[in-house]
Amino acid sequence: VNDYSKPADLHKDKLLGGLLAAGFDEDSCLSRYQSFLYRKTAPHKPSTHLLSKLRNYEDLHRRCGPHTQSYNKMVEQLKSGHSTGSTDCQYVVWISFSGLGNRILTLASAFLYALLTNRVLLVDRGKDMEDLFCEPFPEKSWFLPLDFPITDQFNGFNRESPQCHGNMLKKNIINTSTESLPSYLYLHLVHDYQDHDKLFFCDGDQGILGKVPWLIMKTDNYFVPSLFLIPSFEYELSKLFPEKETVFHLLGRYLFHPSNHVWGLITRYYQAYLAKADERIGIQIRIFDTGTGPFQYVIDQILACTRKEKLLPEVDTSVVTPADNPKLKAVLMTSLNSGYYENFRNMYWEHPTVNGDVVGVYQPSNEEFQQTEKKLHNRKAWAEMYLLSLTDMLVTSSWSTFGYVAQGLGGLKPWILMKPENQTAPDPPCRRAMSMEPCFHAPPFYDCKAKKGIDTGALVPHVRHCEDMSWGLKVV
Ligand code: GDP
Repeated sequence: VNDYSKPADLHKDKLLGGLLAAGFDEDSCLSRYQSFLYRKTAPHKPSTHLLSKLRNYEDLHRRCGPHTQSYNKMVEQLKSGHSTGSTDCQYVVWISFSGLGNRILTLASAFLYALLTNRVLLVDRGKDMEDLFCEPFPEKSWFLPLDFPITDQFNGFNRESPQCHGNMLKKNIINTSTESLPSYLYLHLVHDYQDHDKLFFCDGDQGILGKVPWLIMKTDNYFVPSLFLIPSFEYELSKLFPEKETVFHLLGRYLFHPSNHVWGLITRYYQAYLAKADERIGIQIRIFDTGTGPFQYVIDQILACTRKEKLLPEVDTSVVTPADNPKLKAVLMTSLNSGYYENFRNMYWEHPTVNGDVVGVYQPSNEEFQQTEKKLHNRKAWAEMYLLSLTDMLVTSSWSTFGYVAQGLGGLKPWILMKPENQTAPDPPCRRAMSMEPCFHAPPFYDCKAKKGIDTGALVPHVRHCEDMSWGLKVV
């Protein structure tokens, strides 16, 4: 926990350099105003343009949010089925879908899309969104009201749905010259989306979508990198994020405040196991191979990585003379399995380190398998992502959105454990990430103007293929 001597600094940092709006009830969301006590001062400041965009968004949300006059009017329009061309307020509705890491990334993507298109973001609460997060916008809730007319259709929406944007394009029910547009469209941006769904990422189709008041979005992907490739968004994005790799970092810190009980999980754990250490190292282990584990090749890989990158001291089997100034290092390991943690903990207990440093190894939970439907399970998952984001150095697993959330919130460029092939540790075992941004796992490879396939990872210097997934895209 940091020491703050000057009240003025304290106030400024409390609002994360103006990123957060003042005027919330502090007790209802302790994390919003306490998070700065657990983080190093952020080197990545929000641009003044982003700050004014957020304040404008908050005004819009106040005016168009749930149960306002405008909202009620637009819900009537939704029920009528036709867009009347009245663009008093327009909305993007985010459907709760997929694992928690995925959801955090897609919600940030949907919010950025809302900012770019002057829409209001409304959040389907799913099973647990209310339990996990505080309200991010002042006064009006971000949750879709429970009486929203088409919520019961959300689960059934897929790429074949009649209301699906891509499907309607495919069947030529809508096109760029359609006059009478529906009052809502379903946007299918899930990894199994098809060519017509991907036209979402083309300026021409953004033109159509601009006339539809309600866009209902289902996605399990961080699609921000492809927004950077839409010409009409380019200029605005460059003003919002002069430092391009800070998109998720800043939007994530703005949007995602752990609810009070999750904040309790985070702060109690931090104070008990991490606060006193001289250095905190996070190791996030997510294995997509089949079988239960722990796998020896993964243990070997983590060891090879931490050794090669000098993240953790080596152990010695002979007796070592104690160093003058030994450091206390805390390793926070997260995994569904407890085997990796036990291995590391025992290694540092049974043997001295070569430089005399003392290493404590901790794992908050080992839930064995993903249990998306359980409340406490998801609270713990969120707490662990957040705790990883409070470390000084981070090692993550390839392909995992759980790790992306931690690196992004923490503002950390992790060392990524490369995906093992044929149950063998790869060489090199890990690679430093180019940026702290998450990877878009299923980007389109389409040139909207030329109407042909193209390598979208080779168009501009700031959108590249990811370190951990060769076909993915990330902002650097
Ligand atoms: P991804 O599958 O790694 O991209 O991440 P997601 O968060 O979208 O989905 C994985 C889910 O599995 C998480 O939301 C948790 O429910 C669970 N999970 C995976 N790894 C861990 C872990 O280290 N700790 C905890 N508590 N849960 C985990």
